[in-house]
Amino acid sequence: MTSTTTTDPLPDSEQPSLGSDAGFATRAIRTGHHRTPEGEHGEPIFTTSSFVFASAAEAAARFAGDLAGNIYSRFTNPTVRTFEERLATLEGGACCVATASGMAAILAICMGLLRTGDRILSSRGIFGSTTMLFNKYLTRFGIETSYVPLSDLEAWEAAVDRRTRLFFCETPSNPLTEMVDLTRLAEIAHRHACLLVVDNCFCTPALQRPLEWGADLVVHSATKYLDGQGRCVGGAVVGDRKLVGEEVFGVLRTAGPSMSPFNAWVFLKGLETLELRMLAHARGAARLADWLLTQPAVTAVYYPGLPMHPQHHLVGTQQRTGGGIVAFEVRGGQAGAWQLIDATRLLSITANLGDAKTTITHPASTTHGRLSPEERAEAGIGDGLVRVAVGLEEVADIQIDLARGLAGL
Ligand SMILES: *Cc1c(COP(=O)(O)O)cnc(C)c1O
Repeated sequence: MTSTTTTDPLPDSEQPSLGSDAGFATRAIRTGHHRTPEGEHGEPIFTTSSFVFASAAEAAARFAGDLAGNIYSRFTNPTVRTFEERLATLEGGACCVATASGMAAILAICMGLLRTGDRILSSRGIFGSTTMLFNKYLTRFGIETSYVPLSDLEAWEAAVDRRTRLFFCETPSNPLTEMVDLTRLAEIAHRHACLLVVDNCFCTPALQRPLEWGADLVVHSATKYLDGQGRCVGGAVVGDRKLVGEEVFGVLRTAGPSMSPFNAWVFLKGLETLELRMLAHARGAARLADWLLTQPAVTAVYYPGLPMHPQHHLVGTQQRTGGGIVAFEVRGGQAGAWQLIDATRLLSITANLGDAKTTITHPASTTHGRLSPEERAEAGIGDGLVRVAVGLEEVADIQIDLARGLAGL
């Protein structure tokens, strides 16, 4: 069989051409695939741990960094690079590195950018494993973290000190969907020579691009909406070439929590439908939030798209829609919440989110169960609080499933 054995991409003249001002959906579908001489239409999965060189001299040049090109898949892999280029353009960043998980992305940022004696200033109520990483593990290396209420800009300002190097936040927050004005938070961070890192897992670049509002780094758990169908665990960091391409990438290629080519392929296909899905999740969530407001057993609804939400003014500007997550309080405390959850037959009782399947969670006893009752009260996580990550099913069916439990409260 005669066939070419090279995997070098075809010349630019034979690649599909994207205008420099191509829209979000176009870039989500087209960016990052460098078609090989095989002429494949779908993005290939390069299942190879290492790459071969034409000669000993070429091997030496690549290892020395004098010649660009792949060496080993812990460093770079063409399928992973397709995902990275695609996510970078969607977030509006110059550079992206993919990681084995969202937690590996946060760890790589901390290892790449912090040293003993530095401090992190973080919003309260961030993802549970992130809190564990900061409090239990980074403290062993002399890096301390302080926590402030997400939307309280005066509290951020008051808590910065000389040693603070990094601001970290999730907006909207989990599960209460509190938001922070990123432009103003970035201004505070930069005035104190700190970097602002935003975990953009809940919105994805389809709804919010933190770099455009002044953030320095965006971190993702690709496990959630970027995949969109609950199949793989992965993560990413997006930002400029110095911070991401050198500091964060340096940790990854050395310490090793890199993304597998297969997972990268799942995620890069997920990105193709990201905007469609995020808008559909948000439409469903908005309808569900409106319906929950009419239910007598529901005593409070938390959703950025509702006019009574304290940071509703950021919807339509910083954040394109209210997003796909709705939290609400039911009568009867934990017993009421558990009764509602146990009465569902369609919704998945799981802490995951960002799936086509709607999930339902009791934060006080799961994702926030490790907090003390006082810490939970301070964070506003009541015993009767329920979080629904609205999937892509018919909203009417989600309502039927919840109405059954609500009727008994
Ligand atoms: C899931 C999640 C993470 C961690 O990501 P993994 O892929 O599970 O490691 C970080 N931040 C947020 C907001 C998450 O929901």
